[in-house]
Amino acid sequence: MYNIKWDKVDIKKLTGFSVKAILLLFLLIHVYFGVFYFHYNAGYMVKLNIISLIVVAVAAVLAHQKKYQLLFNIILVEADFHISVATISFGWYCGFQNYLIALVVLIFFIDYCSKSTKLFYIRAVKLSVMCFLSYIAAYICTIVLTEPYLIDEKTARVTQMISSVAVFATVVITLWILIQFTFRIETKMSTQAYNDKLTGLPNRYYFVENFDLLMKECEKEAVFVAIMDIDDFKRINDTYGHNAGDYVLQTVAEIIRAKCDNMVICRWGGEEFLLSGEASGKDEDARRKMYHELNNIRKSIGNYDFEYEGNRFRLTLTMGVSFYGEAETLEDWIESADRKLYSGKMSGKNKMVS
Ligand code: GH3
Ligand code: MG
Ligand code: MG
Repeated sequence: MYNIKWDKVDIKKLTGFSVKAILLLFLLIHVYFGVFYFHYNAGYMVKLNIISLIVVAVAAVLAHQKKYQLLFNIILVEADFHISVATISFGWYCGFQNYLIALVVLIFFIDYCSKSTKLFYIRAVKLSVMCFLSYIAAYICTIVLTEPYLIDEKTARVTQMISSVAVFATVVITLWILIQFTFRIETKMSTQAYNDKLTGLPNRYYFVENFDLLMKECEKEAVFVAIMDIDDFKRINDTYGHNAGDYVLQTVAEIIRAKCDNMVICRWGGEEFLLSGEASGKDEDARRKMYHELNNIRKSIGNYDFEYEGNRFRLTLTMGVSFYGEAETLEDWIESADRKLYSGKMSGKNKMVS
C-alpha cells in the first residue's frame, strides 16, 4: 500500500485533496445514479440527476477558484435534496437514505478542514440536522405516499447493499484520515512543546512533567540534579554577536549530549543546562564520585576551543548540584541546586558547588 508521509501533509494540502476527492466521489455516485435512473425509466430523476451533475461541474469551477464555502454549501444542500427525492421516489427498501448518513460524516470532516485552515466556514451542526430531518421526512413520505417508480425486490436489495457499502467506506476512510492526521499533529505539537529548537535538547517542561517516569527505575537517594550555567555568556553575545552565542549553546549541548548518555539532560533556560541522573550508590563515596564526574563534564566544556567566524575563545561554567533528600519536592530540590549555583556565581564563578 502506498505509504503516505503524514508528517509532510499539512491541513491545507489535506483540504485541497479532500475537495477533489469529494467532488470525484459525487461525480461517480451521480454517474451510478444516472445509469440506475435511466435503466428504470425514472423520468424526473434523470432530469434531477442532470441538474446534480451540473452542480458538481459548477463546484469544480468553484474549487478551482478556491471558493470552498460556496462550493460545500451548494453540493451538501444539493446532495441532501437529491438523496431525499430519490428515497421518496424509489422507496425505503432501495436504501438511498443511507447516503444521508455518509453525508453527515463528510460534513464533519469538511468542518474539521474548515476550522483548521480557517479558509472557509460551514455550519456543520445545522447541515447535519438538515440531513437528519430529511431522513425522517423521507421515511414518513415513503409510508404516506406510494412511490412513483416500482423497483423489484432483488434490485432493491442490491441498491441497498451498494448504499450500505458506500456508507461503511465513507465512515472508515474519513475516520482513518482524521485519526492519522490528528495523531501526527499531536505528536508534532508535543515534540515542539517539549523540545528546544536551538539545541535539540528537551526543555524544562519535558523534565518537570516526566521526572517521575524518567527516574522510576532509579534508587531515589542516589538521584541528583545539577544546574550548569555558562559564565558571562552575555559577553560572548556582546563581543562576537548573537549568532556566536547560539553556536556556543549548540556546541555546549552537543558536548553534554556526548558525555552524559547515562543522564537526563535538558536546556533549563537561556544559557543554563540541567543534568539529572543516578550515582552508583547512595553512600557518601558514590556521591563524591558523582560530583567528580559532573565536575569533569563542566571542566571539559571549559577546555573546549570554540571557534566562530575566525574567533577562537574559551568559556567557563558554574554548577550547583543537589541530591535527593536535600528537599521535599522536585521544585524545592531544583531550587536547592539553583541556590548552590548562585553561591558559586557570587564566590567567583568557574566552579562546582555541591
Ligand atoms: P553570569 O555569569 O552571571 O551567568 O552572567 P551571564 O552573562 O551568563 O548571564 P546573564 O543572565 O546576565 O545573561 C544571559 C544572556 O544569555 C542574556 C541573553 O540575551 C542570553 N541568551 C539567552 N538565551 C539565548 C539564546 O538562545 N541565544 C543567545 N545567543 N543568547 C541567549
Ligand atoms: Mg550565565
Ligand atoms: Mg543564567
